[in-house]
Amino acid sequence: MRPAESRPDFNTLDEVLGEVRAHADRLDETAGFPLEALESLRKGGWLGLLAPIRYGGLGGRVQDVLTVAQRLAREDLSVGLIFVMHSQQLAALAHCASGPAARDLLAHVVGNRQYVASVTTAPTTGSNLLTADSDLTVDNDRLVIDRVAPIVTGVEHADGFLIATRAPQALSETEVCMVYADRQDLDVAVTGDWQPLGMRACRSPGARLRGSVPRTHVLAERQAHRRLITQLFAPMAHLSWSACWLGAAAGAFERTVRYLRSRDGRSRHDVTGELLLSRLGRVRGRLEMVNAHLHHAADVFERYPDQLGSAPAQSMFNALKVTAAEQCSAAVDELVDIVGLKAGYFRGSPVQLERSVRDLRAASLTYSNDRLLVATGRLALLDREVRLA
Ligand SMILES: Cc1cc2nc3c(=O)[nH]c(=O)nc-3n(C[C@H](O)[C@H](O)[C@H](O)COP(=O)(O)OP(=O)(O)OC[C@H]3O[C@@H](n4cnc5c(N)ncnc54)[C@H](O)[C@@H]3O)c2cc1C
Repeated sequence: MRPAESRPDFNTLDEVLGEVRAHADRLDETAGFPLEALESLRKGGWLGLLAPIRYGGLGGRVQDVLTVAQRLAREDLSVGLIFVMHSQQLAALAHCASGPAARDLLAHVVGNRQYVASVTTAPTTGSNLLTADSDLTVDNDRLVIDRVAPIVTGVEHADGFLIATRAPQALSETEVCMVYADRQDLDVAVTGDWQPLGMRACRSPGARLRGSVPRTHVLAERQAHRRLITQLFAPMAHLSWSACWLGAAAGAFERTVRYLRSRDGRSRHDVTGELLLSRLGRVRGRLEMVNAHLHHAADVFERYPDQLGSAPAQSMFNALKVTAAEQCSAAVDELVDIVGLKAGYFRGSPVQLERSVRDLRAASLTYSNDRLLVATGRLALLDREVRLA
């Protein structure tokens, strides 16, 4: 048990949630970035949730990030995703903060309450985190960055960027590293617009990032990078994305139940009819399934850090991501059938399912389910004893 004073104060999260709620419709309409929510997260110290207290963070655990993510995503899935992606970058910085220079970097990012964007997707290597197509050129004591990034959440407002790129002096696309860059060290040229079906407040246009950083800003390279990805970055992504999708689906379920219990809902629907009840039961079952898998995966993540690179653990985290994406999306789709066209499919309905349907449609695409299923299939052939994590 950690001392009580080192625990994040979840009460202050209500103020953030109020900001998220107040702006969600407008930002969905305009595909604008949730600046008010970001400022509120910054003010409450939530951007440093995962950082140790000695660096100015809240000293939280991954379980805390999952809790906050679910609550944010109940209001607006885009804000949940922005928060967890930032927290994932911070976790990587903290994980690699073993030497003095890396510790200074962490203190700088946390102390200044910086919002850190993620630059992993690349034009030719896509979302594969173990390959990269852009170089990091050595220039005396600095490293020169010239990175084309097809999709970067919050690129217009980020204070810093964690960039996946080829390692210094790499000879192949598999020699990869993560490098941190402050915005002030980069020329950030935004390319294109952001007009997706859902996740509109994520505002993730492409950009070209050019500039240079000190050599000490390389977090982990080559084999250390592979360990960082398999043991921290990927499992944390699957955990935190799944928490967001579960939060969004649970929020949609909550609004649906509230509507069905209202005078309006009872006058339009036979709430004792077996078709409606069995559909509600099935949706609840989908949420329970994801919740159980999420808890188990979070437990494995915290209790067995040395085993996260193993085939059973990787298979389990991949399965979590795919299951959460499929089940949360299916759950909300089924809610539309339960309440019908007017309450379920129209914009402006108090049940607000149409935004949830659009937002959750992105879940299977956010690091493609197909990619993960192929990877899990390969792992399955390696694990002859079928050991379940
Ligand atoms: C809301 C949102 C926010 C995002 N924010 C960021 C961000 O901040 N930073 C960032 O770097 N990225 C971000 N991404 C990108 C994301 O991480 C993925 O890289 C991206 O969604 C994958 O895009 P894709 O489907 O075009 O590419 P791919 O993953 O390359 O997939 C393209 C197609 O090929 C198929 N495919 C690809 N590889 C395989 C394979 N091995 N086996 C079988 N089929 C395969 C896929 O099923 C898919 O149909 C974001 C994505 C979303 C939706």
